[in-house]
Amino acid sequence: MAKKIVIVGGGIAGIYVLRNLLARKGKEEEMDFTILKREKSGWVSTCGLPFALRGWYDIDRTEINKPQFFRDQGVDFRTETEVTKLNLEQSSVTLKTGEVLKYDFLVIATGRKQFVKETELEGVYTFNNEDDAEKIEAALNKEGVKNAYIRGRGIIGLQAAAAFSTRGLEITLHGGPPSLLPSSLDPDLGDMIKERMEKEGVRFILDRREITAIKGHEGWAKSVVIGEREEEKEEIPADIVIIGKWIVPEIDLAWKAGVDTGESGGIVTDRAMHVKKGRRHINNVYAVGDCTEVVDGITHRPRLNQLASTAVTQAMVIADNILSDISEQPGLYSPYGYCFGPIVADVGGVLIGSVGVTSEAASRAGIKTISGKATKLIKARYFPGATPLTLKLIFDAYTRKLIGAQMVGETGVAERVNELGLAIRAGITAAEIRNMERCYEPSVSLLIDVTIDAAIEALGITPVY
Ligand SMILES: Cc1cc2nc3c(=O)[nH]c(=O)nc-3n(C[C@H](O)[C@H](O)[C@H](O)COP(=O)(O)OP(=O)(O)OC[C@H]3O[C@@H](n4cnc5c(N)ncnc54)[C@H](O)[C@@H]3O)c2cc1C
Repeated sequence: MAKKIVIVGGGIAGIYVLRNLLARKGKEEEMDFTILKREKSGWVSTCGLPFALRGWYDIDRTEINKPQFFRDQGVDFRTETEVTKLNLEQSSVTLKTGEVLKYDFLVIATGRKQFVKETELEGVYTFNNEDDAEKIEAALNKEGVKNAYIRGRGIIGLQAAAAFSTRGLEITLHGGPPSLLPSSLDPDLGDMIKERMEKEGVRFILDRREITAIKGHEGWAKSVVIGEREEEKEEIPADIVIIGKWIVPEIDLAWKAGVDTGESGGIVTDRAMHVKKGRRHINNVYAVGDCTEVVDGITHRPRLNQLASTAVTQAMVIADNILSDISEQPGLYSPYGYCFGPIVADVGGVLIGSVGVTSEAASRAGIKTISGKATKLIKARYFPGATPLTLKLIFDAYTRKLIGAQMVGETGVAERVNELGLAIRAGITAAEIRNMERCYEPSVSLLIDVTIDAAIEALGITPVY
């Protein structure tokens, strides 16, 4: 009999579990799939939405496959569908309509949600999915919309600012101190982004004041007031308000079903991505994506890592483990392991990269660090496109092992994030990085790469330029 696989959530996490299983579906692994999601869409690349707002392409281009694409492959792909209950004892889920669906394997892929105060005003948006992007795009095209206030100094806030800057808006980006993207960048690197964006005309406010009012005119946002006390109050003109903060895992269904959640607020899983209920690991129930908690690869502490890159890696592992169970081949089992949080983000043409811990996260975990920072061209100066890259490497002060890397540049960022992520996993030391032979050809690299300079700086050796 075909095994019933029910996936609650049709974001990147749920879709990738489905795609992995569909790709490997064979006669010996008969499976019936049901995927349930609130949106109308099929498979949407959320990560592509900021670039649509920059005007690179239409928002609907980010819908990579429509629901029918999956239905044609026999998937019961249900959009605009609300799941109201997970009945773990009965191996079923209940829909808002009252319908009950039985499963052999359940995947919880419920993503994230955001706590935002309700407002009647138009022009106030979150930026989590394609529906939000559509509303923001419509607002950008409205006559007279020229001032934007963005709350949040993470990727969403920065990418919204980059998009609005291209569209000619006056932007105020407001977040907490001390600098930008604090979960991925030390303040010195965060400040580089800030300075670049300030040159583009973005105004930054980095302090602890909160929004106390959003004022409107004829039903549309006009300004945001920040600050509680009279003397700290400030009114910022804002025809568009983007709230890019207070984002938490969407765990309501899991929590009501008694599934364990962790100190970060996400669903706790074991290495196979099974959920837990008390002491029991539930071997046919998995969780994936933004709703889950990960274990940090350096601090070994639980935390969130709400990125598509995390979701797709976990999804692959879940597919392996479901297929192992169905085909009774233990050799297929695979673990997710620790999270080292590699990121790359394009903020208006400047690339930010990071992997491992920041100096602040290391310090919070009681890890003493040494670090080295260098700025250098990424290829020979006489080649076109030879732009600088600033790279910071963070090492454990006792072992000299690499535990974090951060960078800002116009190119060469993603590959270095992945290379240094591998080095972190392998426990490579500062001396090993410094003495590592690297490939060289002047059109693509330098004889002595910025990575070596940063390691040299951390070791306190005199560099050769
Ligand atoms: C603007 C933006 C840009 C980004 N850029 C990047 C990037 O460049 N790189 C990167 O790695 N990450 C990026 N991210 C993060 C990435 O998009 C998310 O980590 C990823 O989309 C998470 O996918 P998910 O499926 O876990 O969650 P979600 O996308 O939140 O999907 C959750 C799904 O669960 C469904 N659901 C929840 N509860 C119920 C219920 N009760 N009943 C039915 N359905 C339910 C929802 O309808 C939805 O379909 C970006 C995010 C945003 C918002």
